[in-house]
Amino acid sequence: MSKGKAARVQGTHSHGPLPACVEGFTRLQHSVTQIIDGSTLIGAADSQAAIEQPCEDTVLPSVVALQEDDLTLAQPEAETSVPVSAFAAFGLRRELLDGLAAIGFEEPSPIQKAAIPELMLGRDLVGQAQTGTGKTAAFGLPLLERLDAGQRTPQVLVLTPTRELAMQVAEAFNSYAACMKGVKVLPIYGGADFRDQIQHLRRGVQIVVGTPGRVMDHMRQGTLDLSGLRSLVLDEADEMLRMGFIDDVKWVLEQLPAERQVVLFSATMPSEIRRISQNYLKDPAEVTIRQKAADGRRIRQRHLVVNGPQKLEALERVLEAEGSEGVIIFARTKAITLTVAESLEQHGYDVAVLNGDVPQTQRERTIERLRDGRVNVLVATDVAARGLDVDRIGLVINYDIPFDGEAYVHRIGRTGRAGRSGEAILFLTPRERRFLGGLERAVNQPIEAMEVPGNASINQHRLDRLRQKLTTILQQPVCNPEERALLAEILQRVAQEQSCSPDQLALAALELGLGGKPLLLQGEERWGQSRPGAATRERDRDRGDRERGGDRRPFNDRTQERGEDGPEDNMERFRIEVGWRDRVKPGNIVGAIANESGLAGRSIGKIRIFDAHSTVDLPKGMPDDVFADLRRLRVMNKELQISRLGS
Ligand code: ADP
Ligand code: MG
Repeated sequence: MSKGKAARVQGTHSHGPLPACVEGFTRLQHSVTQIIDGSTLIGAADSQAAIEQPCEDTVLPSVVALQEDDLTLAQPEAETSVPVSAFAAFGLRRELLDGLAAIGFEEPSPIQKAAIPELMLGRDLVGQAQTGTGKTAAFGLPLLERLDAGQRTPQVLVLTPTRELAMQVAEAFNSYAACMKGVKVLPIYGGADFRDQIQHLRRGVQIVVGTPGRVMDHMRQGTLDLSGLRSLVLDEADEMLRMGFIDDVKWVLEQLPAERQVVLFSATMPSEIRRISQNYLKDPAEVTIRQKAADGRRIRQRHLVVNGPQKLEALERVLEAEGSEGVIIFARTKAITLTVAESLEQHGYDVAVLNGDVPQTQRERTIERLRDGRVNVLVATDVAARGLDVDRIGLVINYDIPFDGEAYVHRIGRTGRAGRSGEAILFLTPRERRFLGGLERAVNQPIEAMEVPGNASINQHRLDRLRQKLTTILQQPVCNPEERALLAEILQRVAQEQSCSPDQLALAALELGLGGKPLLLQGEERWGQSRPGAATRERDRDRGDRERGGDRRPFNDRTQERGEDGPEDNMERFRIEVGWRDRVKPGNIVGAIANESGLAGRSIGKIRIFDAHSTVDLPKGMPDDVFADLRRLRVMNKELQISRLGS
């Protein structure tokens, strides 16, 4: 960070170290930081207002002072209670701070903290960070800061792997620069009108964001003049590599002026990307943002595919089969929170709603009720659930798909708190499946497929719950001793009158405890057959296919289990009686079978995990004794009971 400050100082006062200013700035900045730490987060409502009226004079005096005179005056006098943007500490110009205030950026993310000062110095940079860590602003802000509004040819070129990303990045630049005069940003990508792009380029553009192919077309035609280029950004470099653009990227790099800044961001660092960085970047600053181990790891994440009209029923089933002590259900709109809550209430749940209409005081009461268990299910919108911190949340249901990876991470972070484990289930409509890849990248782990729970697993869960309740009451009776004496008397009397056994009596009492509700779901299995929700997981699924740009391959449905996509020629498909419900992971199955059978892990084929069972492909010709051993083998404390699927 100190380099960034130095950059600012040097930028405003020709050269020279100016140690006193820098030191004073450090002190000043320190006090600003303290204010930020102490201030409460601006609530959702406020940031909403800020978004609706961009560039109102919302930047606070202390920030402005810090920007200009205090750099040299160095008076640590910013002790005011007004919250200031932590971005001011980078020495960004006021128009940018205004832009950031308007979109509600208050605190720089870790990658922004690390990268902005380096980039403000004009250094090259290699950054490794996952999606959703805020890379766009990490390069966007310093490059905008260094922009020369007077120069009309492109100064910044950002290469992105896809047109969607190009549009996103261009929009982000526009939002940061909303209060800067004369900044022109142009996204250029294939499929859009070429002439139109030429027109814009002619009129003068400082920032071009594009996909490699179209950028090269313009360069070759001479319609994109990069002679004045100062900075090139390779965004999501590993994606560009994966999509086959890497030679294009090298070609572009070779056409650039010798004096230029190159910024390379990538979620992973395959050797080709390393090589590019070694060959084309000069003494780059390196920034790696490690995924917080806490995030996601303790949270088991699954998704299910369900048609819109069936969502409510699917939700009830999921709650029945997976429900835990505290559940938060995220819905997109206030109206949906109400619909969902009403429906659950009718099914006997203690439900509360948190949405933008709920006043602050009531919000706190609701959270308190959730915390102490008076309410078990909370239906909320993102905004209303911001910062919600309740330990006993065991399950988060994304009833509606979150807006982006960041929102997803935030939502599932409501569970798995205080060292506990948690569950997260994401509902996707068939059309929304294509967003799964993006969310998986945001958490850097697969979000496994599950099925809408069938009758069998719901019934099993009901029985488990009943057993649990009974055990609890035996250990911690709810009635006081006098009441218990009265109950005992009733039992005795009924037993005498009816001359029944204690067992019969106990059964009758249990049935009484059901409160008139049927114990089991009866009837045909309506879910989990060939519904859209009947998705499965393949261990060897080609992750590449579902990245942006290409759609996911269609999900397999249950018919596959019976072999429509059959095992490979030399393999045979087996069924084992352990499934999601037992929390089994492919690794458990591979490990156990490899150990027991002596097979190499790699010769164990596809594994598909279903609700209560799984299938696994094994090499043909398994000896009988191995087969017998595998039958008794226990995984997740259950016998595999392996059987040949064909038979
Ligand atoms: P990445 O490129 O690393 O995937 P993005 O730059 O697209 O991440 O940012 C992810 C999301 O986080 C975006 O919605 C962006 O607006 C938001 N964001 C980024 N930085 C901040 C910040 N400092 N404060 C609040 N939101 C931020
Ligand atoms: Mg990005």
